[in-house]
Amino acid sequence: MSSSDLPKVVEPTCAVPRLLEGQKALVTGASSGIGRAVAVALGQAGADVVVNWVSGEDAAEEVVHEIGAAGARAYAYRADITSEEDVAAMFAKMLQDFGGIDILVNNAGIQKDAPIHEMTLEQWNKVISVNLTGQFLCAREAIREFRRRGVVTDVSCAAGKIIFMSSVHETIPWAGHVNYAASKGGAMLMMKSIAQEVASQRIRVNGIAPGAIKTPINESAWKTPEALDALLKLIPYKRIGLPEDVARVAAWLASDQADYLTGTTVVVDGGMMLYPGFSEGG
Ligand code: NAD
Repeated sequence: MSSSDLPKVVEPTCAVPRLLEGQKALVTGASSGIGRAVAVALGQAGADVVVNWVSGEDAAEEVVHEIGAAGARAYAYRADITSEEDVAAMFAKMLQDFGGIDILVNNAGIQKDAPIHEMTLEQWNKVISVNLTGQFLCAREAIREFRRRGVVTDVSCAAGKIIFMSSVHETIPWAGHVNYAASKGGAMLMMKSIAQEVASQRIRVNGIAPGAIKTPINESAWKTPEALDALLKLIPYKRIGLPEDVARVAAWLASDQADYLTGTTVVVDGGMMLYPGFSEGG
């Protein structure tokens, strides 16, 4: 089946239930792609949202506007998550403006692809610093505040929730992207180790592993019909994912509906991890 034979993809418009009323959320890298959709979905679910951005100020303001239209408060905040100072200042402002934090979505991430024999140390370091160190810095700040405040039963069963935006490449090796796959595998074990460490304080820490989602990060994989056809061979569900597919899962995972989930990864991939090469062979 080629992309032209596929049924039209219906933009998911299902309403997000207001499961996060009264909660405060911070989403990193929220001016585009998955982060943008997650920030909007959390707002639609009733949470007030800090929209972190490092590039794309206008786009971040649009996200703020969209969350406001959904009846929640939001503001955009520029911070480079690889900077300890920026991250500390971002959390300090959030605590001052919103009075606390209930949900952190560690979403920001980048790719700097190259074959291993050509990969520069700069490409390696850049990806590790955003995808791994940046996620550590934000998680540490959030946990400090969750521990200080503890559970507020009127708000949530948990003292706080963290969602790491991982990737199917926390599991699937990825030639030509060793820095990215290493960062996502590392983020997965960071997520699990933190979850183990703080579970007794009623802090829930989980990951989401998206498959192929149509965003700027992977434009070359869906921009042309040929590229899309090649991509769809890897997706049993035969459509590329949309940011909203991930966003609705994030809103649910952050809510008390998911209160008994911690230290786990929810895979949102249209079956990409089902070894599609075996569907007609093996
Ligand atoms: P994207 O490029 O639209 O989003 C990444 C965001 O991170 C951008 O807004 C960017 O400005 C921000 N960012 C980069 N460096 C930053 C920094 N130092 N500080 C703060 N923000 C920074 O791409 P996306 O697809 O929406 O990616 C979001 C997350 O989802 C990433 O972690 C990515 O690895 C993950 N992911 C994406 C896919 C996919 O198919 N699109 C699949 C699996 C995982």
